[in-house]
Amino acid sequence: MEVMEVAAKERLYNYEVSHPEFGVVTVQTIGPDSATLLAAERWGQKENWKYIVGGMSVRKCGRALEPTCRRCGKRTAEPGLCRDCRAAEEFTRRQMADIQTRDRRAGMRR
Ligand SMILES: [Zn+2]
Repeated sequence: MEVMEVAAKERLYNYEVSHPEFGVVTVQTIGPDSATLLAAERWGQKENWKYIVGGMSVRKCGRALEPTCRRCGKRTAEPGLCRDCRAAEEFTRRQMADIQTRDRRAGMRR
């Protein structure tokens, strides 16, 4: 049972859902039915789902990519940077800010 759950969780696809009134959204989910639900939610129409679902068209757009770190390419929980790279980038930013501060001071002395 547990194995089934994991397998289902990993099979995420991108679905492009469009509606003449609300436009197009891309959602990542396991099937077209939940894609329409997610789309309705995105449009703020969760309560109206049953009324608007008939007007939706759903297109499957392939496997959803797991978010990876844009610095080192490791898998991350959220899109952007992994925890290590976030820490490293924060450190670099602080160093840069320090250099800029020093430069400005040097300029002031002129
Ligand atoms: Zn990283």
